[in-house]
Amino acid sequence: MRIAVLGLSHESNTYSPVPASLDRWLAAGPVEGADLFDRYASSEASLAGYLELASEPGIDLVPLVFYDLTPMGAITADAFETMAGRLVAELERHGPWDAILLALHGAAVSEGYRDADGEILRRVRSVAGPDVPIGLVLDMHANISPAIGEHATLVTTYMTNPHLDARRRARLAADLTLRTVRGDIRPVMALEMPPLAVNILRQGTDDPPMRELVALAHEQARRPGVLAMSVAEGFPYADVEEMGMAFLCVTDGDPDLASEAARIVAGEAWRMRSQLDGKAVAIEDALLRAANDASRPIVLLDVGDNVGGGSPGDSTHVLAAARRLGIGGLFQSLCDPEAVRACQEAGVGGSVSLSVGGKTDGLHGEPVPITGTVRLLDGGKFEDPGATHGGFRFYDAGDRAVVHTAEDHLLMLISLPMGNTSLQQLISAGIDPLERQVIVAKGVHSPRAAFEPIAADMIWMATPGCTTADLGRLDYRHRRRPMFPYEPEASYPER
Ligand SMILES: [Zn+2]
Repeated sequence: MRIAVLGLSHESNTYSPVPASLDRWLAAGPVEGADLFDRYASSEASLAGYLELASEPGIDLVPLVFYDLTPMGAITADAFETMAGRLVAELERHGPWDAILLALHGAAVSEGYRDADGEILRRVRSVAGPDVPIGLVLDMHANISPAIGEHATLVTTYMTNPHLDARRRARLAADLTLRTVRGDIRPVMALEMPPLAVNILRQGTDDPPMRELVALAHEQARRPGVLAMSVAEGFPYADVEEMGMAFLCVTDGDPDLASEAARIVAGEAWRMRSQLDGKAVAIEDALLRAANDASRPIVLLDVGDNVGGGSPGDSTHVLAAARRLGIGGLFQSLCDPEAVRACQEAGVGGSVSLSVGGKTDGLHGEPVPITGTVRLLDGGKFEDPGATHGGFRFYDAGDRAVVHTAEDHLLMLISLPMGNTSLQQLISAGIDPLERQVIVAKGVHSPRAAFEPIAADMIWMATPGCTTADLGRLDYRHRRRPMFPYEPEASYPER
């Protein structure tokens, strides 16, 4: 049995000023052929779940190519055509296939295709022909379009946020695909898309109400005949028609059961919609709470500069507010290659006087002047074998510098955009996270797996930026209307 493994993963923030251009994609990858095993097999990422099949008897698993890029703006037209073209060419060159295992994010947008994932799937289906099973795993932040339901044979999404089950959910998709090839099952899917967006603050699956909703989905998944039940939380920072929550049920040849199960979970989400809306804490209030707390560290989440959601990672709103309030003792990372170079010139132990961050656009603050001493310079590579968001293991922040400022901040200046999802990011730079009074983490849920176990408190801040928690600030042109919470009068079910 010959099975292809390939994919393209991008969460595109259509409000980000930084396009996902071809040079950025090529600087980040792709990972090709057998290298996929080296890069992913020992990780907890979704591809690892697919690669597990290689050890099954009678299966020739053929890793082809995988593109992955940090979330940022939409994929440029030439980048999309180059990569989608490569996916299709690899399938054609190395086929025919008994099955295809595809890994996509589900919230990819390109200049030419607002539903970029659906377009990839359409092209893969047209190469594969109508009969070859295509198994697909998506991120829980997918905006699932009807095209995905139409062209994939079966789909699963991650069911945890932070994403700790990517490998397991991909393995489920792989196992179901295998059973389909063997003729043991005949998957049919139902997709339910209530007009509902979830505030990013309410997307954590360890907290109510999302915890209860996911539990209900798992309950539906245990019904006889149901093969998989998925909840996509959606990605509100992509201005596309399919933006919002989606519920996807796969059954063994029973379309009525599939739509019934999907509608049960979707209906429950709709009933709890007011709890799925949320509000963050003002920056100054959060900083004062943290500074006055006797225990440490207090983790302040920079929601508006959520690198994992496509922001540039150089927001200075928190640093500037701390300066205004006279609060020191922060750890904060900022993507600022120019400042890193200045630190390299000064050398370890050297004094620097420079303006950091706020250089991408006006939305993420102004550069903040600092003076301090360079404490560390290195290449920014570190490894985290523990459980972190997305299951990643190898990290690369590019050249980095740690500066100890006059206000007793430890600023980690990095050359590639990166959020704060791993304690090793600090430890590898000689920073003890337990020693800091305040840790600013750029992210919403992605930092939780790393920081929740050590944080005395975690506070979500209402920072401005292209991943703001205030969804009312986003100017949508393509989303469905009416939709909750934007138009509170929206109704469901509409049929
Ligand atoms: Zn996600």
